Amino acid sequence: MNPVADVLISKEKIAARIQEIGAQINKDYAGKELTVVCVLKGSFIFMADLVRALNVPLTCEFISVSSYGNEKTSSGEVKLVLDISKPLDGKHVLIVEDIVDSGLTLKFIRDLLGVRNPASIACCALLEKPEALKTQVSVEYTGFKIGNEFVVGYGLDYAQKYRELPYIGLMKA
Ligand code: 5GP
Repeated sequence: MNPVADVLISKEKIAARIQEIGAQINKDYAGKELTVVCVLKGSFIFMADLVRALNVPLTCEFISVSSYGNEKTSSGEVKLVLDISKPLDGKHVLIVEDIVDSGLTLKFIRDLLGVRNPASIACCALLEKPEALKTQVSVEYTGFKIGNEFVVGYGLDYAQKYRELPYIGLMKA
């Protein structure tokens, strides 16, 4: 047990769920090629595990956005920090997000990439906080729905720390 966080979702549960989501994505995109877009930094571990559960041909792209706010809440003002390097015309795009909280970050990214003429666009989020949603945004593949609580680990940080925890944890009081 790590001293900083109590386990909310174990690494075994995450691994099993990723296999299930991967199987669904493989089915849905059979015969197609995917452009998988990792939303940095929080999604890097999820992205790495998810693409290894996929058997459709794919390329990996990386995007980074920042939202102004304090360490535990976002202000909803989203800014593009790093764009993907390739055009998306005619591509099947899968956005990989760590967590959908207010939904504003995902909406920003969907709108940004959606106007670049992709053949399709979908999102896979490891975590969703349905109670925190502030905007209407589609999430086609979800790992786990959680309550309105702040989580760390498996890529997710608190002040840039704890991303390396192999599980999703709740900060200890
Ligand atoms: P949204 O725009 O949906 O409110 O927030 C999305 C981003 O806020 C996520 O990609 C993540 O970086 C951050 N975030 C939201 N909730 C949490 C949380 O519980 N823990 C951590 N570490 N980051 C979160």
